[in-house]
Amino acid sequence: MKYMDEYRDRTLIAGLTKKIRARAGRFYTFMEVCGGHTMAIHKFGLPWLLPSTIRLKSGPGCPVCVTDQSYVDRAVAYAEMEEVVVCTYGDLLRVPGTSASLYDKRGEGCDVRVVYSLLEALRIAREESSRMVVFLGIGFETTAPGSAVGILEAEQEGLDNFCLLSAHKRMPPAMEAVASDAGQLDGFICPGHVSTITGMGIYEDLPRLYGMGCVISGFEPTDMLESILLLVEQMEAGRPEVAIQYKRAVRPEGNLKARALMDQVFQHGDDTWRGLGVLPDSGLRIRPEYARYDAEQRIPVEVGPARENAGCICGEILKGQKEPSECPLFATSCTPVHPVGACMVSSEGACQAYYKYRRYA
Ligand code: SF4
Repeated sequence: MKYMDEYRDRTLIAGLTKKIRARAGRFYTFMEVCGGHTMAIHKFGLPWLLPSTIRLKSGPGCPVCVTDQSYVDRAVAYAEMEEVVVCTYGDLLRVPGTSASLYDKRGEGCDVRVVYSLLEALRIAREESSRMVVFLGIGFETTAPGSAVGILEAEQEGLDNFCLLSAHKRMPPAMEAVASDAGQLDGFICPGHVSTITGMGIYEDLPRLYGMGCVISGFEPTDMLESILLLVEQMEAGRPEVAIQYKRAVRPEGNLKARALMDQVFQHGDDTWRGLGVLPDSGLRIRPEYARYDAEQRIPVEVGPARENAGCICGEILKGQKEPSECPLFATSCTPVHPVGACMVSSEGACQAYYKYRRYA
């Protein structure tokens, strides 16, 4: 297939759902890990197309949602420093911290700038040579290579007033945490974008250790339905394995150049995830040789204990234990205009997906 319309073809969609219905010999629960998949699933109404034997759950793959409260508090502390410019992607701006969001701080006159790429943050650092520019680096293996390139470019240029506050994370430890905790999942719809960088090797423990199928999926309705069909077929045959449905974008080995850049600048370390807590080796920490570009080393700040908003169940949603509609604040005191938790702020968050596409369902 070549054009977008073909991936949304009604006849193909009907054929795939028919095959899923015919081949699913029992109830199955699959988790879509990626926030982009969550949005697409609800946008295209897949829960209504699938047979009642297939249940989908959202997982911990929205970068903004899993970024823990203490990271936001640290970013807010930087924003309060006159000599610091905080550069961030727009989604993070409105995530509530313990006492304030970056959006609140910007309203108070703090220098918080929304950028569309790390290169913009580097440009600001060149222009504001007397101030320190702190870039908020969040996301998984998808965005970490870009942050690595930024650090290498700053080093090459001798740009001394730029650093990165890394909340970059690795996907496999979170998937293993969910797999070992949930106990009722049959397989994962694996993230397409992450896999373009990592390839398929990062998922190989999941079928082996947990008996779960893994299919790396694209984001169009026929992609996701084909992925679900592949998962059903794996489980019906009793042979869970890692497979690639998104072959037009993902190679088995991933992007070797991007992986090498990521490994050059980052090393694995423990990290805190909203809902999942501290997961060993789940974070991408800046290596000691690049410590001068590490905001935590360069500008140490003390933040108090993080406090989640009362009533928000983002953590349980990210673990697949609850759905957004089970939150008492959903669509009442928590909306995209007045978000209480990260899952409603993010354009890839499960709560925002439900609000946009399933509020009246
Ligand atoms: S609806 Fe709002 S308060 Fe409830 S879990 Fe989602 S983000 Fe948190």
